[in-house]
Amino acid sequence: MTQQPTASEKKSLVEDLGALTGRAFKELDATKTELQEKEKLLNQLASESMEKIKELSKINHDLQDKVGFLLDMSASMNKKNDELVKSNHELEQQKFHYNKMTMELKEKLDRVLSKEKELSMQRDFLAKQVDEKTQDLIKAAKFTVIGELAARLAHDLRNPLSIIKNTMDIMRIKPNMRVEERLQHFTRFDRAVQRMAHQIDDVLNFVKRSDLILQSTSILTVLDSAIAGVMVPSDVDISKPNSDIQINCDSRKLEAVFSNLIINSIQAINDKGKIKIRVVDLESSIQLEFEDTGPGISADILPKIFDPLFTTKQTGTGLGLSICKSIVEQHGGTISVRSTPAIFTIRLPKNIPQKYEIPNS
Ligand code: ADP
Repeated sequence: MTQQPTASEKKSLVEDLGALTGRAFKELDATKTELQEKEKLLNQLASESMEKIKELSKINHDLQDKVGFLLDMSASMNKKNDELVKSNHELEQQKFHYNKMTMELKEKLDRVLSKEKELSMQRDFLAKQVDEKTQDLIKAAKFTVIGELAARLAHDLRNPLSIIKNTMDIMRIKPNMRVEERLQHFTRFDRAVQRMAHQIDDVLNFVKRSDLILQSTSILTVLDSAIAGVMVPSDVDISKPNSDIQINCDSRKLEAVFSNLIINSIQAINDKGKIKIRVVDLESSIQLEFEDTGPGISADILPKIFDPLFTTKQTGTGLGLSICKSIVEQHGGTISVRSTPAIFTIRLPKNIPQKYEIPNS
């Protein structure tokens, strides 16, 4: 049989129970507080996690964009790669085609080169033949010129010779003629003889070209002796340059050039008018000009007047200007003409270049 607790035991039990309950409540409170704090912490963690999740989802989104972009790029690169492969293939084909063409061209070039060689040989052969034929033609032309010259000289000499013969006949018939008339006839003799001498000189100068005999010469002296050698009619006024220049030349040949130009001018002005001779010092060369008051030279004959045998005169040899040209060129100079008025310009080096001292053929 169970013994019933006493009242004091009951009271102590209640007190213990109360104390226990009080402690339990306190512990409960503490736990509650602790739980609340933990809940707060959890909430905080949850909200932080949410933030992180949001952030991660944004990053994920960005990454998805980038992956999309990379995928696009990869696709377009694949496309490009396909295109490159295709064009590479085309290039290979073209390369093959070009190589084939190059080979064909090389073959053709080889054929052209051998043809060229063949042609060059044929050309040399033809050039030789042309040379030989030219020499033959020159020879034939020379004979023609000599024949023409002889015929012309014979014809030209006949005229002054008949003047001399007629004058002599008159003088023979009239042995006592007046002195003035006699002088007139002598002047006719002189003119006829001078014309013949000039024509013979022209032919000789043309036919035999001799070497230059060079010496330092005063240009005025050469001009003076050229004028002195020509019969200058009284109505012809020749003006000479004031200054003199010294040059290295063949004075005899140069005198023939000046005489020819002066005689041509006298004939052009028909024994009446002016002839102006100018000289300019050009340091290493000189320039001479012969100008006359004649009718000038028409454009159609201007390019021909230096040709041998070209003449517009009834008794001309057509050799004067051709001889002038040859002498001036032998001196390393040039002669040219312009019109109107007729002006002949000669350029001569003061010191003749070495190559022009080579004897003429
Ligand atoms: P030629 O005097 O014997 O005719 P040239 O060779 O000296 O031979 O002259 C050739 C031609 O040039 C002359 O016939 C003439 O027509 C022309 N000519 C030369 N000098 C003059 C000049 N000063 N004025 C006009 N014509 C000229």
